[in-house]
Amino acid sequence: MPLTAAQQELRRTRLTGSSIAGLLGRSPWDSPLEAWELQRGLREFAGNDDTEAGNFMEDGIGRLALHKLPIDPETAKAAESPGTLLHPEFSDVFAVTPDLIVKSERIGIQIKNHLPWAAKRYRDKPLSTVRWHNHLLPGDKLMQCLLELDVVSKVYGGEWVWFLAAYFGGSHLRVYWIRRDTRTIEAMLAAGRNFWRRHLDPAGPASPPSPDCTCGGCGRGQAWWIGRWQHATAPMKLTPKELLSAPLPFGGDDDDAFGAITAGGRF
Ligand SMILES: [Zn+2]
Repeated sequence: MPLTAAQQELRRTRLTGSSIAGLLGRSPWDSPLEAWELQRGLREFAGNDDTEAGNFMEDGIGRLALHKLPIDPETAKAAESPGTLLHPEFSDVFAVTPDLIVKSERIGIQIKNHLPWAAKRYRDKPLSTVRWHNHLLPGDKLMQCLLELDVVSKVYGGEWVWFLAAYFGGSHLRVYWIRRDTRTIEAMLAAGRNFWRRHLDPAGPASPPSPDCTCGGCGRGQAWWIGRWQHATAPMKLTPKELLSAPLPFGGDDDDAFGAITAGGRF
């Protein structure tokens, strides 16, 4: 859904699910400075045909993902968009706007309407041989899911599970199961708080991120993810530039992508 003006104001001085990877230098799309300018409203996010289509498609992809998950159809009807939520412990610093949550099941869903090439940024399909798929996601998507999962868990209480519903067109939907990796979350939140004090705090310097910054988030000083998030330093299959000229990845073997959902049973 497009954000309301009130939601945008809440998000302007906080790290959010969709911006945290860019701000902390883990997005292949935006540098920390570009992400910061967008966050502060200093640069207009133009929007394009993809984002417009995504706003309309999101509802259908969400309902398809709920249909594929092993939850009761009646329960799935209670799925809701909770609006913009602040992190209960760091309410000035982090805000998320989850796509869908089902409170009775304690599950949340992040929806991604991808172009088919984007499948190359994932390390693999959801595997039925492993229960969790954190390590298969592009790093920026994993950071978004983990921040949303942490905020929602703390706002509503209990043990929540997150899903990334990655849609690549046609019937090609992959649903990845994301576990609450508290070590990575704690490290990410610590880096995010350092970044916030330097760059987003309304009472602070609010200085632009730079490669020479020593906050540990945007600069090169401390790599907060090393040792906690092994795969983040391994190369993706393709860079964003390569993606744009890549051939479509799909063969018939993608149709078993739901093995992970049906074989795993209840979570
Ligand atoms: Zn910094």
